[in-house]
Parts: sequence; structure tokens; C-alpha cells
Amino acid sequence: MPELPEVEHVKRGLEPYVIGETIVSVQFSEQVKKSHENGKQAIIKGKGLAHFSDHVKGYKMNRIERRSKYLLFHVERASSTAFLLSHLGMSGAWFAIDSVDQITEDKFRSHVHVIFTFESGRLLIYSDIRRFGELRFLDKLEDHPPIIAIGPEPFDQNAQELFLASLNLPKFNSKPVKEVIMNHQVIAGCGNIYATEALFKSRIHPKRAVSRISLGKRIELFNNIVSVLQEGIDAGGSSISDYRNVNGQAGSMQDRLQMYGRKECPKCGSNVKQAVIGGRNSHYCGKCQR
Ligand SMILES: [Zn+2]
Repeated sequence: MPELPEVEHVKRGLEPYVIGETIVSVQFSEQVKKSHENGKQAIIKGKGLAHFSDHVKGYKMNRIERRSKYLLFHVERASSTAFLLSHLGMSGAWFAIDSVDQITEDKFRSHVHVIFTFESGRLLIYSDIRRFGELRFLDKLEDHPPIIAIGPEPFDQNAQELFLASLNLPKFNSKPVKEVIMNHQVIAGCGNIYATEALFKSRIHPKRAVSRISLGKRIELFNNIVSVLQEGIDAGGSSISDYRNVNGQAGSMQDRLQMYGRKECPKCGSNVKQAVIGGRNSHYCGKCQR
């Protein structure tokens, strides 16, 4: 599943191609259309396909912002502003190209579900193998509360202060630390891969209750979350399964992961243990992480 570094790369990859472009039309795949006919709303969420396509037409792309794992396209038409919100789900990918044939990998090319055509003739294509991703047109962000509830971005100046304050809240204090740092109200964009890595670096057991972690260790953990996310960005993201950047390239962070998906601890050689924490499978070293 794409996490913060991967989504950041998608954003950076799209920017040079889409900023300043105006949407003239949008097409949906047969699967998306069928799903909407059956009331299931695959990918396009909100008020239906007709509403979506009527609303996005004529909008110019002004800016792309990443919030946690969401991409927010800031769009404008006749001085009224709106947002196109994108979440990649498990396997979503964006391509800014001239034709669908330019998508080199079959699995992405055969799962193209949404095609925006720009005034320049260039296409902005959304492909999604498993169709868990989402796209929404929003007049204002308040119309979609989950985006408003997201905590600070890890690289924001006030992020550490708000992270530490959240950890002191009664609702988080007694919970396993891994579950808490994966909560986007505490810190944005720290998913399973990067939470696993940050806890290993900090030598903290993922099940440890927040209340049993000293202030010094909490700060160390925060700093490690920021550094693994930065490392992920620097490495072009992790391509564990289906992540690709807008040029169809995989990232290399998966080769640098110390604990996620490992069988043996790189520090002490012990067998890596697994446990389900907060609904997610977690890898950890029972010896190095306490
Ligand atoms: Zn170990």
C-alpha cells in the first residue's frame, strides 16, 4: 500500500505535467460504470459519475498538495476554487502521458479506470488493479471530514509538539504504541512499513503501551519516524507490490527496510516475530525491541 513517501513521489512526478493544465473531459472504465450502476461507487466517490464529470470539466490544475496519503489537486474555474482528492488505496497509480499505450506494464495498462483529457491533449490517467483507491470532487475540504481530521505532517515545524501532546491523551496513553503512531490524527502518513521501521530503529516493542515509554524515547521515536519517512522519499518510495511513480518506475526503499518483511533481525540475527497490532501485521525483534 502506498504510504507517505510513495504519495509524495507521485505528487512530485505529476507536478511538472499537470500544473496549469485544464480538464476538458473525463472517461471511466466499463468496470467503474458497472459498479456505479450497481450502487457500489468504485473509485469515484461522492455524488456519482455524471456529477463528477460535470464538475471537473473546465477546471485548471493550480497546485498539488499531499496531506498524509492523500493527494489534493487544487483546481480553479472562473475564479471559483475546488479540490480533486485522490487516495491510491492498495494499488492506485497515476500516469501523465499522451496515450494509454505508453503505460509499459500490462497490469497497469489493463486496469486504467479514469482518464482525464487536458486542453493540451495530454492525458492524466488513473490505474488501479484492485480498485480500492478513491477520487472525489470537493467544493471545500470541510465536505470530507477525514481529510480535516488528519494530524500534522511529520515535516511540519509543530509536528513534534503535537505528536507528544497526542501521546499524553487518555485515549492513546494505554494503547500499543504501534497502533497510536499509525493513527493519522497523531501524525500524518506513518503507515505499517514506516511505523515498523521507526519502532525497530528506536528499539521499542510495537505492543508497548505508550504510557510505558519515557519522554526521551518518545522524542527519539518521533525523530525516527521523520527520518525513515525522509529516507523513503529519498529512495523513491518502497515498491513492495504495486507502487509505481508517474513514469512507471519502482522505488528502492524496499531494499533498505531493516525489519518490515524480514525473517532475521539485521542487528542480532534472531528470528523476526510477527503479531497483529491494531489490525495490521507487525514485524519486530523480540530481543532488540522492548
Ligand atoms: Zn534483534
